[in-house]
Amino acid sequence: MPGFAWIIIAMAVGLLLLWAWEMWRRNTRTAQSMELGVTDEDVDILRRNMPIYNRMPIDLQQQVQNLTLRFIEHKKFVPCGNLEEVTQEMKLTIAGNAAMLILNRPVRYPFRQVFSILVYPSSFFNSQEERAELMDGEAWPTGSVVVAWDSARKSAQDLRDGKNLIVHEFAHQLDLENGPADGLPEIDSVQVSTWARVLSKEFAKLRASANQGKRTLLDQYGAEDPAEFFAIVTEAFFERSDRLKNQHPELYDQLRHFYRVDPACWVDP
Ligand SMILES: [Zn+2]
Repeated sequence: MPGFAWIIIAMAVGLLLLWAWEMWRRNTRTAQSMELGVTDEDVDILRRNMPIYNRMPIDLQQQVQNLTLRFIEHKKFVPCGNLEEVTQEMKLTIAGNAAMLILNRPVRYPFRQVFSILVYPSSFFNSQEERAELMDGEAWPTGSVVVAWDSARKSAQDLRDGKNLIVHEFAHQLDLENGPADGLPEIDSVQVSTWARVLSKEFAKLRASANQGKRTLLDQYGAEDPAEFFAIVTEAFFERSDRLKNQHPELYDQLRHFYRVDPACWVDP
């Protein structure tokens, strides 16, 4: 047989093997998803709107899927402004990002104190402050989270901006689980004193840098108060994990303990 015939046969076998691999991978994924009740379309939305999901190890992805479904099942999603309905894409994106904050812990009801998610198509006027102000997100101690969908989706999709509106608002909700928003969520007693020491020190550093007009890795909105500081360091923990680990190792370590994951180790697929 001439040499080129062998090349063609080898290419055909290679293509066949690739096709078989893709079929096996799809079937495996479908089987896993069906077991949990998420469809392939749902998973595709998570992959597209929550790129950090693609970096997670498979067991964490499955936890996200599972928690996302339970979240959607137990919360009321309310369309606001001129939004006609809260679509499945919106629900999955919001629930998936919130789920990322409660991995590796025994959670029966995700964010048990949150009852409703109010979704505006874009920025909205705040309802509770004395002065009307345009907002992209709010976390109410009465059990609601409010988000502007355009900002929520954009900040979740873009991992380079270091921002994630959904993560920010649900970090506030974690903070609210044990009383007023003060930057001290429910932490095990062994960690509390180190947490308080490290976060106070880092908060003071951010405030000083902001006052001096210095550039910082952390969003200077966090210099407002300890509650905002906790919310913005949570965003940085998930979106800028490498740089946070390098530049603020103690802070990274505290967040790694609290969130029970190590996103600096996650890799792009
Ligand atoms: Zn905030």
